[in-house]
Amino acid sequence: MIPMLDLKRELADIGDEISKAVDKSIGETKFILGPNVKEFEKNAADYLGCKYTAGVASGTDALHLALKASGIKENDEVITTPFTFIATAEAIVYCGAKPVFVDIEPETMNINPELLEKSITEKTKAIIPVHLFGNPCRMDEIKQIADKYNLTVIEDCAQSFGATYNNKQTGTLGDIGCFSFFPSKNLGCYGDGGLISTNDENIYNDIMALRNHGSYEKYYHDRIGFNSRLDDIQAAILNVKIKYIDKANEDRILAAEKYKDIIQDSVSYQKVENKSKHVYHQFTIRSEKRNQIMSELQKHEIASAIYYPVPLHLQKSFASLNHKEGDLPVSEKLAQEVLSLPVNPYLEDEEITIISEIVKLASGK
Ligand SMILES: *Cc1c(COP(=O)(O)O)cnc(C)c1O
Repeated sequence: MIPMLDLKRELADIGDEISKAVDKSIGETKFILGPNVKEFEKNAADYLGCKYTAGVASGTDALHLALKASGIKENDEVITTPFTFIATAEAIVYCGAKPVFVDIEPETMNINPELLEKSITEKTKAIIPVHLFGNPCRMDEIKQIADKYNLTVIEDCAQSFGATYNNKQTGTLGDIGCFSFFPSKNLGCYGDGGLISTNDENIYNDIMALRNHGSYEKYYHDRIGFNSRLDDIQAAILNVKIKYIDKANEDRILAAEKYKDIIQDSVSYQKVENKSKHVYHQFTIRSEKRNQIMSELQKHEIASAIYYPVPLHLQKSFASLNHKEGDLPVSEKLAQEVLSLPVNPYLEDEEITIISEIVKLASGK
């Protein structure tokens, strides 16, 4: 059996160090906004190369609070991709705003900058590019359009911790970066967790209040906020894991390269722009024989997954947007053809070889 990700393999590697960090956090008994959170925020800001970071309760909350801090409200429109996890668009709805979906490029699988301009209206206030599967969006083009129309750029970096574009970390290219530490992400904790990155002091101050009941000083509430704090125990785990993130991402990149070496042109892959470093949160192939490949892998007890089977504009939860099939054809086609194969720092070379041979054979090419 080869799963998508086996965190037991991680525990066998760094479990002792993690247990010590958890014990230390518990011993300090400062569970809410304690010393490990502060330390992690500093570590993350140093790593990302930005002025400010704020730990929050999840990646979804990071997006929600980032939109709030950007002043997104009822009747505003926010542009994003339909080919992403639902949370990206949910966060827009939480603010009372309307998600406007712009189709993707088939090659990178990310939002297509060339289609952006015609979706911008007077109501458009922000763009959320999603660095899908760890592959950075074409941020130069996106930024140029955002600057022209004075739009806030909020990067969804849930899948891209450590990815770079023009040698800068994702999450520092737009106005605000939003990260998730869901256990399976490239940098994952052992529960829920998230982070916001920014160079803007006002946004940072807003988010620090929003995550903690609208309060800068205990029991003085300047505005209505939320309870959305990164947990001290999770931060303690992240302080251990962030030390190994570069090695972990390098291992993912090596695994992806090995897959491509063996599978070759039997299927296609996400295109990586010259300016980009892809960190392979997922290794996603594209083939007309997707379903055959998946069932062949299943027969050999090898996991694979379809991210994402239904683009967001066709989800029941967005029925009120009145989209129909054919509206965003590239996303719809990719939903039929993509398949993510196991990729993680602990995947063995032999496993990659076995999986690749099956994919190659089942692709019929
Ligand atoms: C995981 C994910 C999120 C949400 O993160 P949570 O921490 O699970 O709330 C948002 N956007 C994308 C693209 C994701 O993959």
